[in-house]
Amino acid sequence: MKLRYLLIAVAALVLQASASEGKRWWSHIEFLADDALEGRNVGSAAFEKAATYVEGQFKEIGLRPGGVSGYRQPVKFESRVLVPEQSKLALLRSGVEEPLTPREDAVLSARGELDGSVEAPMVFVGYGLSIPEAKWDELAGLDLHGKIAVYVNTTAPVDVSDNVKSHVSSAGERWAVLKKAGAIGVATFPNPRPPVGTTSDAAPAASGRGGAQPPQPTVVLADRELQEQSGQAVSITATRRGAEKLLAGSGHTIDELEQLIGDKKPLPRFPLVGALRVQAAVRRQAIDSENVIGIYEGSDPQLKTEYVVMSAHLDHVGIGRAVDGDSIYNGAMDDASGVASAIEIARLLKESGAKPKRSILFMAQTAEEKGLLGSKYFTSRPTVPFDKLVADINLDMFLPLYPLKVIEVQGLTESSLGESVRAAAKELGVDVQTDREPEQNRFIRSDQYSFIRRGIPSLAFKFGYEVGSPEEKIRRDWVRDVYHKPNDDLKQPVDIEAAAKFNRVILGLLQRVANDTARPRWDDTSFFKRFAKPDLH
Ligand SMILES: [Zn+2]
Repeated sequence: MKLRYLLIAVAALVLQASASEGKRWWSHIEFLADDALEGRNVGSAAFEKAATYVEGQFKEIGLRPGGVSGYRQPVKFESRVLVPEQSKLALLRSGVEEPLTPREDAVLSARGELDGSVEAPMVFVGYGLSIPEAKWDELAGLDLHGKIAVYVNTTAPVDVSDNVKSHVSSAGERWAVLKKAGAIGVATFPNPRPPVGTTSDAAPAASGRGGAQPPQPTVVLADRELQEQSGQAVSITATRRGAEKLLAGSGHTIDELEQLIGDKKPLPRFPLVGALRVQAAVRRQAIDSENVIGIYEGSDPQLKTEYVVMSAHLDHVGIGRAVDGDSIYNGAMDDASGVASAIEIARLLKESGAKPKRSILFMAQTAEEKGLLGSKYFTSRPTVPFDKLVADINLDMFLPLYPLKVIEVQGLTESSLGESVRAAAKELGVDVQTDREPEQNRFIRSDQYSFIRRGIPSLAFKFGYEVGSPEEKIRRDWVRDVYHKPNDDLKQPVDIEAAAKFNRVILGLLQRVANDTARPRWDDTSFFKRFAKPDLH
């Protein structure tokens, strides 16, 4: 009898702990996603409030400051806005100028470096991809020097893994290849069949969303060495109508290209008729922001100089176009939820008195929504020695919208971290699964990608689901109706106990990785292994 009472008492305690942990987790979101925080846009006073809050939490928990000055790693940005009346696009054919209408035909992005005017010939390069291991090279034999490369912004029907596809299709990787081939700019044609909810966190701002709104500034890292698009004079996003105009006279049509894409066939490559005349005037402004970093010191004399990173982005998209009278994009799930988890996991670690061998570096980074820029800055200019960063565990809207049975892990089959998360989840009776929607490119769509590209094994997560289950519907509906909208706020239904359970799984994962004498390594079969320095792995 006594034992039974004891068991009941213990069970009750565990449940209670989970409920109170969930409430504490939610309390951080209540602060960070309140209307007063105005959607935490980079450079806003509200973002600074959020940074001060996280700093205060890290301090209270007793994390050691891990920034450059205290908990902060300052990051400088440049915001660029095109002056519309001094910026224009036109086709130049047989000496005749045919203007392209802004938004209806094409959007010129302030991401390009051009401040003045340029005239350049254009070449259609299909999907614009070069993947040597797949023997796929759409740039072979093409002379792109001084030209604008035009490609369809979708993934190619190449027989490589989805992660590889995601990687080579990112704007930065595509540009690296095109730049090497001599291109001075890019113009993209729209993906004829965009998957739902793919308005990527990392996509350029020139998506044309927002109707008659003034153009959103493009934000880039001030440090030119770290600018992905360096050397890109011109960056243009054509609409379908604009694509038709660019293709006119080339012997090819947008219908034909869309048919080929639909049939998963290669695309032809050909020069476009005439030249593109671009005039751009850019207004630039300096922005100061920061990553907030706290360290839970490791216990092993050697291993404590190594760091397992737990990251989550603090910024969201700020104030924008009103939907149902609400213009504050609170970003409760994206990603106040991840920051709240990082804080709570640090607190649980401290309260448990755990002594992990390696140190754990907690970071609330800036400017994810501007293209993973805060994490890019950290991985390029880390506040601890770069070769001591052993892993990144990134939390970005893991979506605790229903009870936790299975965690979807991005990067599950890429590195030894896969085994670690499997074991940590199993301890709490939770399953893991790979990404059920690989076409969403999630492995490269949040800050873990900044780590991956520098060779550091990484993971990211979502609450998983069984195909055809009510959970699947909840998640799909969320992506369609709430993602990057003002109603990602405090009024949505969230399962806070499930979030607390998730936090416990991640806590277990961090401890496993921190305690394992071997540092995490990429699987031999992983495409991403190539980014690792050979002497580290
Ligand atoms: Zn996010």
